[in-house]
Amino acid sequence: MSDGCILVKNRVKGKHLRALVKPPQLCYGCRPFFRVAFLTKIVVMTDADYMRLALELAKQAQAAGEVPVGAVVVKDGEIIGRGYNAPISRHDPSAHAEMLALRDAAQQTGNYRLTGCELFVTLEPCLMCAGAIMHSRVARLVYGASDPKTGACGSIVDAFAEQRLNHHAEVVAGVLAGECGAMLSNFFALRRLQQQKKS
Ligand code: ZN
Repeated sequence: MSDGCILVKNRVKGKHLRALVKPPQLCYGCRPFFRVAFLTKIVVMTDADYMRLALELAKQAQAAGEVPVGAVVVKDGEIIGRGYNAPISRHDPSAHAEMLALRDAAQQTGNYRLTGCELFVTLEPCLMCAGAIMHSRVARLVYGASDPKTGACGSIVDAFAEQRLNHHAEVVAGVLAGECGAMLSNFFALRRLQQQKKS
């Protein structure tokens, strides 16, 4: 059983915070449950918390011998899509973590539009994934490490700054960038070592 999820109004700042409510059967902010929810433990989820979940998925990619990138799609605080990098094992050049998380979320919601959703990914999206993010109408993109080779959110090109495109997600860069980047650099360092041993 997964954790329930509500939006909690932050009375100080007037902003909505995402929160997971335990026990899981208390969820979705309908009024009777909302009152009870305040009697239970409320865990406010930050961007860093969701990024840690994406990092867990990145570890699964690494375990499968893929470049370790993970992604989650969040709607109203609830995770509705998960993905990790798998182009080699799937024989699919489009099987980046973001693409798989977006597909998972669209399947879960039965809607190809992911309006109001947030995407958390450990690495700056490439041009393909930036395009998919725009097509899906994701409202907010949060990524960890920058990608100086293929990053399409400012590193090589900035797709989200192109005013002629008709949808623009809010972009937040650098959340847990150190951890996300370290996972990638450790992976490539290990791979270089293994290749040196073979040759
Ligand atoms: Zn990509």
